[in-house]
Amino acid sequence: MRVLFVGAHTDDIEHGAGGLLCKLIAKRSDEITYLCLSRCTDIPRNATILEDQEAVTRFLTANRVAVVMHDFPNRRLGQHAFDIRELLESVKEEVKPDLVITHWVKDIHQDHRLLAEESFRVFRNTSVISYECTRSCPEFAANYFVDLTQAEVDAKIELLALYKTQANLYYNKPDVVRALAIMRGVEVGIPFAEGYSIIRLIGSGPCAPLP
Ligand SMILES: [Zn+2]
Repeated sequence: MRVLFVGAHTDDIEHGAGGLLCKLIAKRSDEITYLCLSRCTDIPRNATILEDQEAVTRFLTANRVAVVMHDFPNRRLGQHAFDIRELLESVKEEVKPDLVITHWVKDIHQDHRLLAEESFRVFRNTSVISYECTRSCPEFAANYFVDLTQAEVDAKIELLALYKTQANLYYNKPDVVRALAIMRGVEVGIPFAEGYSIIRLIGSGPCAPLP
C-alpha cells in the first residue's frame, strides 16, 4: 500500500498520526511518503527548528520514508491555496497514494483546515482519513481507531522528542500523548489507540483499504 501523510506544519504529522506512522515503519511493507508544508521558522521558539527537522528527516529516511518538506509561510497557507493545490496534484501524480492521512476539516487552525479541504478536493478518488491535533480539534470525534501497542506509543513519544524546540509545548508532553492514546483506547476497549475521522474509504470490503 502507498500511504501519504500530509501535515501543514512541522510536527503535525508526528503529533496527530505518529503512532500509525511508527506502526507502518515497523511493518516495512508499505511505501510511505511524508509531506510537510511549512517549516515554521518564523516563530521565536523555533530558532533551531531546522536542526530538529534534520534529525526527523534522518530518522524517517533511514526507515525508508520519502520526506518532502516545503516552506510555505506559517499561518498564511490560505494565501497560497492555489500553489498548494498544484503541489498536492503533483504529489498525487508522483506518489499515487492508496491512502491519504491528513488534517481534519473542522480543525480550528486555519492552515490545518485549508490543507484538509485541499486534500479532500485533490484526493477525491482516494481513501482519506483525518487525524486530530489536540490543541485545535476540540470537537474531534474519532470513528476509526488504530490499535497501538505500548511500544508504538513509546515510539511516537520518541519521535516527537526529536523536536527539541517543541519539547515544552504541553500537548507534546509524553504524559499528554500517552493519556490521549489511553483515552482513544478506552473508547473502543483496547489499551492504546490513535483516533481518526474517516472521510472516504474505497475498498473491496470493510476496513480492507486500511493498514
Ligand atoms: Zn500545525
